[in-house]
Amino acid sequence: MPYEGDNMMDIKRTNRSAALRILHEKGGMSRKRLAENIKLTPAAITKIVGEMLGEGLLVESGTVPSESAGRREILVELNTHHRCALGILLNLRQAIVSAVWLDGSVLFSEPIELPSAASAEETVALLSGRLLALAKEHGLEAERVIGLGLAVRGITSADGRTLSDSFGMLDERDVPLCRLFEEATGFPTVMANNVRALFSAQLFFDRDEEESSEFFLRCEVGIGAALSINRQIWPGVSRQCAEIGHIPVVRRGGKRCSCGKKGCLETVASPSALREDALTLRSEAQTPVFWALTREKAPEDVTIEDVLQAAERGDAAINALLDRAVTALGDVVKTLVYLVDPGAIVLYGRMFDNAACLSRLLREIEKGIDGRHRVRIERSPYNHRLEDKAAGLLVVDAYLNDGGIRP
Ligand SMILES: [Zn+2]
Repeated sequence: MPYEGDNMMDIKRTNRSAALRILHEKGGMSRKRLAENIKLTPAAITKIVGEMLGEGLLVESGTVPSESAGRREILVELNTHHRCALGILLNLRQAIVSAVWLDGSVLFSEPIELPSAASAEETVALLSGRLLALAKEHGLEAERVIGLGLAVRGITSADGRTLSDSFGMLDERDVPLCRLFEEATGFPTVMANNVRALFSAQLFFDRDEEESSEFFLRCEVGIGAALSINRQIWPGVSRQCAEIGHIPVVRRGGKRCSCGKKGCLETVASPSALREDALTLRSEAQTPVFWALTREKAPEDVTIEDVLQAAERGDAAINALLDRAVTALGDVVKTLVYLVDPGAIVLYGRMFDNAACLSRLLREIEKGIDGRHRVRIERSPYNHRLEDKAAGLLVVDAYLNDGGIRP
């Protein structure tokens, strides 16, 4: 392990970052309280606060009574609209282009349909063109933009610059997406896997400092997951932590998965697999409730909500499919509880909006846990609300970590 000292610039960056992080997490406070919180001398705080006020990154906002009688202390807070980050969330067949302020509030966002196995070149041209047009429409000047974040489906390279495998989202592998978007937009670009970006966004908004480790499970089309340790997301040595959707769970005769293997968890328990299996069975004789619910619909219009509703209304064959899915997913989650001993398991995705489905999964997980774990299992309080923020927040996070010093 290399040991290195801190030079003056690094110390300044660290101190500014600590101040920005505390102001982000706890809101405005006096210089005195800020100094106590990040354990710096009042003189050091006065210096960095003065500097950041001068840059417009902080603002003074009212006063609070001081502990010393008769005096008042001035509050300082983050000037959240001082800078803005652009973002693109890239999924199979759909992207969201957006811009967020430093507090994660959204300036604009727009979904854009994409073809599957889209050409990288055309995708970059289409998305960057629309993003720049929206920025212009909203009067966002280039000097206020701190960068572009990409939250992408698939596996990124170790340096986070190349999309190594997008599992069919783009028509080629090893696409240098960061460079391509930098050339197209002129903004420095960072990239992360989309599930890790969503989880990172949840951690950005979540001010709960208690949990030392959380497991984020997203079931939207497929199954994705991410793991944090001390509020830091562990990407994994090969940038694949925690791709639990591709754990093989069917030994014989499993369906082909988007990763190329057969019998992955995703082919049994993901919303898209459930939907496909239900459609294969759909008939008046085999799935009478599901049939009655969806007979007017073309297959492509049948949703996971229809499937879950049929199960709730007592369709036996659909219930058997759901049981199989919940058991397989529950088994993998239980393994995780024993392996990682996390403080929380956060469930994210539309599937968990269905109360019956959610409680079925919770019961399944609890069945195998003996009560000695202190794990909290719950639906994300930000369910469906992070898609338009996650990509931009990758940049905001890096900016706050760098003490608001632009490269
Ligand atoms: Zn797979």
